[in-house]
Amino acid sequence: MEVILQNLTKKYPSRGKKLREDVIAVNDLTIHIPDGKLMGLLGPSGCGKSTTLNLISGLQKPTGGKIIFGDQEVTYLPPESRGIGLVFQNYALYPHLTVKQNILFPLENLKGKSRLFKTEMLKKACEAAALVQIEDLMDRKPGELSGGQQQRVAIARALVKMPGVLLLDEPLSNLDARLRLQTREEIRRIQKETKITTIFVTHDQEEAMSISDLIAVMNAGVVQQTGSPQDVYDNPDNLFVARFLGTPPINVFEGQVKNGTLYIGGDPVLDLVHAGGGLSEGAFGQVYAAVRPEGFILSENGPLACRLSGVEVMGRDITVVSTNKASLAPKVRAVISAERQADVSGPLVRFSLRPAKVFLFDKNTEKRIPFQAAIRQQIGACHETHL
Ligand code: ADP
Ligand code: MG
Repeated sequence: MEVILQNLTKKYPSRGKKLREDVIAVNDLTIHIPDGKLMGLLGPSGCGKSTTLNLISGLQKPTGGKIIFGDQEVTYLPPESRGIGLVFQNYALYPHLTVKQNILFPLENLKGKSRLFKTEMLKKACEAAALVQIEDLMDRKPGELSGGQQQRVAIARALVKMPGVLLLDEPLSNLDARLRLQTREEIRRIQKETKITTIFVTHDQEEAMSISDLIAVMNAGVVQQTGSPQDVYDNPDNLFVARFLGTPPINVFEGQVKNGTLYIGGDPVLDLVHAGGGLSEGAFGQVYAAVRPEGFILSENGPLACRLSGVEVMGRDITVVSTNKASLAPKVRAVISAERQADVSGPLVRFSLRPAKVFLFDKNTEKRIPFQAAIRQQIGACHETHL
């Protein structure tokens, strides 16, 4: 089932005596989720993710805009008429019912023509339980299950009617780290097997990036960017998106562009050839220059000098932690492959930059300024000892 959200807006009336302005939880949100895909709806706490999901499910009504499932507008349909499955962070199982009864519950509530025979219901419940691999827990009560098992039951219950759209609101937040990893792989497997169009809400960028076909990054009720996880990571439209994706986070510096060269803290670090829009040839201006941690190359004669604070060994990679006066954050984090056995002893470390990992942003609008790094810079960066 294709899902289209068109100019969706949700305002809550202000309750405060001083602050009379409405809270705009979701602001003119337009997203298209193709049939059978998993969309990760990603953003910091309070940015409007749950509200968006509640509008899609029908638990809340929008102030404006439309919701379309396939070729049917569902904006004002009640939740039970939308053909959705819902999973929340806190599982929300009925504690006095067994696992089997919990999974059967949505089927037993079917009315009129949709009502099923008991044997059919049981068959469907067993199929849903098999999908999430909890067949041997059917007679237990939720209190006798681990968090991960409870969440599987909640997923089975959401799937038992084979919904056209599956909506998951931070379903892994209550699980410990290992179980979170395992369960997210499970969700992806189930989604691929059933091909149910799925919207997965999370504040965890790694989680969203790892399981989504598409992500939509939200901030303050507004969608900032949508696209495949890799594309959004590689081509962030604005500083917010660049900062929200990636661990360690992107390093942001005060930069300056002068005659086609990017300077950080007075050091000329990259030759730029302008690729249309924003900067003109020979442009001069203050920018935010953001460098992904994997965009640094340790290089004796590298143009960017930073003061070494330490080295964190991560196994496969090492993180060179340093400081630079032009950095917005107290520390600059550069991820270098451990195999390179880099010599990082001196008080100063020097880097050259991988042009594809450097982004420039307008200091006022924080929008991306496109550029192409000069070819000679790329050749310089590819010096054999640094690859
Ligand atoms: P998220 O799920 O991304 O953390 P929410 O959708 O829950 O964000 O909330 C978005 C914004 O709307 C927040 O500022 C929140 O305080 C506000 N909000 C959510 N529900 C209500 C409500 N029932 N009444 C007033 N404000 C609300
Ligand atoms: Mg929420």
